Amino acid sequence: MELLFTEGISKCFGNFWALKNINIRVPRESIFGLLGPNGAGKTTLIRIITQIIFADEGEIFFENRKMKPDDISFIGYLPEERGLYKKMKVGEHMIYLARLKGLSSHDAKERIKYWMDKFDILSWWNKRIEDLSKGMQQKVQFISTILHEPRLIILDEPFSGFDPINANLIKDEILELKKKGSTIIFSTHRMESVEELCDFIALIHKSRVILDGSKQDIKQKYKSDTFVIEHRNDFGDLDRNFSVIQKDRLEDNFYRSVIQINNGKSRNTLLSVLIQKVEVHSFIEQVPSMNEIFISQVNTIRNE
Ligand code: ADP
Ligand code: MG
Repeated sequence: MELLFTEGISKCFGNFWALKNINIRVPRESIFGLLGPNGAGKTTLIRIITQIIFADEGEIFFENRKMKPDDISFIGYLPEERGLYKKMKVGEHMIYLARLKGLSSHDAKERIKYWMDKFDILSWWNKRIEDLSKGMQQKVQFISTILHEPRLIILDEPFSGFDPINANLIKDEILELKKKGSTIIFSTHRMESVEELCDFIALIHKSRVILDGSKQDIKQKYKSDTFVIEHRNDFGDLDRNFSVIQKDRLEDNFYRSVIQINNGKSRNTLLSVLIQKVEVHSFIEQVPSMNEIFISQVNTIRNE
């Protein structure tokens, strides 16, 4: 079921534990968000998975066995600190990187052309890397990361350095790669990019995982039985099974109210109370955004 999972990964720099007992499970053909504020430990974990550094404790499993050094060839990795050879030309640089990943020069050329065309940057082929903007270089590096169609794609802060339009381009590409069967792990400290993208997440804070699982399960867990209701006429007071958190009069006799259900009562109970009193136009559950959940979780830990 999982393509990759970790068991009890810990990493110490001097006397500072950058990671403590990290267990994550990355299901196949999913997008897994490694989230957390700056300094949480995301890059350290990624460097351990990509075998740049080694854990002091714990184990990484890939394809249901302990990860081996040459499993690296199944991974496409976009590091946080980007870097290309400044003096090389875009086309030759990409061919060079693709050859390192084991592609023949013919295949490399074909695929690079396909991707550059797709990103509308084919005209950059003979430009020197140093003449590209940071964002342009990042596009080149992104393409080089995925060119060999790796089973696992690991992107460390893929959106940083991109303007919103190009960030969206990368987002769409990540979704498409998943559709084609890749598994993607990406890290970000910007929680708002998570909503549309992630199937699973692990929120790391101060070296530990403080929240993890599927996005759906997490949303279910943190919803608060609160509903946003649009209605004509005022319903007046409600009994103590319902707390009216907000009631706004929008126009004439048209209202938008936020009501929380207490005492384990069902939503139908609320609805049936309301329809006796007012004309209900809409009735929608208020589900917290992932961003709201993360912030509340990080703050809970901070206040402990
Ligand atoms: P994130 O990617 O979540 O922002 P990092 O994994 O880069 O966080 O860093 C986690 C913590 O580990 C930080 O406090 C950082 O300073 C520390 N750290 C990372 N790498 C090293 C290193 N090579 N030596 C010492 N401390 C490090
Ligand atoms: Mg980082």
